[in-house]
Amino acid sequence: MTLHPCILLADNWAFLYAQRLALKQRLPLHVCFCLVPKFLDATIRHFGFMLRGLEEVAEECRTLDIPFHLLIGYAKDTLPPFVAQRGIGGVVTDFSPLRLPMKWIQEVLEQLPSDVPFAQVDAHNIVPCWVASDKQEYGARTIRRKIHDQLAEFLTEFPPVIKHPFPVGLQEEPISWDACYSSLQVDCSVKEVDWAKPGAASGLKVLEEFVKERLKHFASGRNNPNQAALSNLSPWFRFGQVAVQRAILEVYKHRTRYKESVEGFIEEAVVRRELADNFCFYNPNYDKIEGAYDWAKTTLKIHAKDKRPHLYTLKQLEEGKTHDPLWNAAQLQMVQDGKMHGFLRMYWAKKILEWTRSPEEALQFSIYLNDRYELDGRDPNGYVGCMWSICGIHDQGWAERAVFGKIRYMNYAGCKRKFDVGQFERKYGAHSFTQ
Ligand SMILES: Cc1cc2nc3c(=O)[nH]c(=O)nc-3n(C[C@H](O)[C@H](O)[C@H](O)COP(=O)(O)OP(=O)(O)OC[C@H]3O[C@@H](n4cnc5c(N)ncnc54)[C@H](O)[C@@H]3O)c2cc1C
Repeated sequence: MTLHPCILLADNWAFLYAQRLALKQRLPLHVCFCLVPKFLDATIRHFGFMLRGLEEVAEECRTLDIPFHLLIGYAKDTLPPFVAQRGIGGVVTDFSPLRLPMKWIQEVLEQLPSDVPFAQVDAHNIVPCWVASDKQEYGARTIRRKIHDQLAEFLTEFPPVIKHPFPVGLQEEPISWDACYSSLQVDCSVKEVDWAKPGAASGLKVLEEFVKERLKHFASGRNNPNQAALSNLSPWFRFGQVAVQRAILEVYKHRTRYKESVEGFIEEAVVRRELADNFCFYNPNYDKIEGAYDWAKTTLKIHAKDKRPHLYTLKQLEEGKTHDPLWNAAQLQMVQDGKMHGFLRMYWAKKILEWTRSPEEALQFSIYLNDRYELDGRDPNGYVGCMWSICGIHDQGWAERAVFGKIRYMNYAGCKRKFDVGQFERKYGAHSFTQ
């Protein structure tokens, strides 16, 4: 399998739809990206990954005779004037269920001339979020069937993208990437990482290696942080540099040989991922305790005053200075590599519930750390991951215990039974700190 990097635009349903509209109307096509100066807790680690990926997009657009514009500022301020000045006939955009991007869309809609049609395409889910379900789903078991039933319709090959036959005519100004970097108001102390090279070309290489080397171990090894079994694709998925649909099409080719692994990967990348979007789309409190189920809110409230075995400040947590070397190693992995192993993310967030003053504080700290350090952070999967760990979203009640109430518990001894905890701790040079 060799995947061509040109796949980035070709694998984007919003782009494909926009080109189809332009071809039908025999009009030029423009691609715009509105670069905001800051976004939630994103740092240069995230903006650097995104901008370098965009440089690749701009280059690809050039070869397709499609001008790429980087509009510096909020979409509400930059896009409507662009549309008016250029006499643009219609706008097509992508979709995110998160509150801030939803607000951006609303603001643009209010400013666009009324005769300019505006379309939104869910380009990152296979079954579009609003088609998969029209309500908040209780859990994986209630959405799984709905998604699988619609895969035959949506899990198709992407149609080809073509060199655009209706050029703009004008010579476009080259993009000043330096000006883009200097427009940012982000924290530069969280460094970019070496292992994850931004852009579709690198992301597709990671997909290729995953299919060749790690997919066979996915079913048996994905809960072992010492084993190379995961796809590692979340940063490229997060920034739209590799389409989940492309990954599924490639992985699916191996369904006979690695049945369990292929099914496991589809469960994570399609069912769990779309469930996360479903939660954020239909639940306005997707990152707050109020967004939890009643049973979870009740049990957390009953246990709010339980004595915590340890209490840590945000600084102690951020520096990985707890008594628990495994937790510290997981935190260091996230800080240094920008990607904590999936199994450890659950343990990590549950311990934050156990070691902070309240579930509200636990949720706040975990989301802050996740969004600041994980390359794939500020994503529905992250909010749902923290909500699952701390307030039982998409889970069920378990045996009642201190602090957690009926929220599922995880502990060090359980991790020791699953994998060589010492090996992982040594890899990150983590040890135990006393308070
Ligand atoms: C506390 C906590 C925080 C998390 N934060 C994030 C985050 O910020 N961003 C993020 O993308 N994922 C997050 N996850 C989900 C999951 O841990 C990561 O998606 C996964 O570890 C990414 O690594 P990978 O691509 O190698 O995963 P793989 O196991 O190879 O999975 C492939 C893809 O499936 C999806 N996926 C896997 N596990 C889940 C899951 N549990 N829920 C939803 N989708 C899933 C992701 O898109 C992932 O890239 C979080 C989970 C928890 C418990």
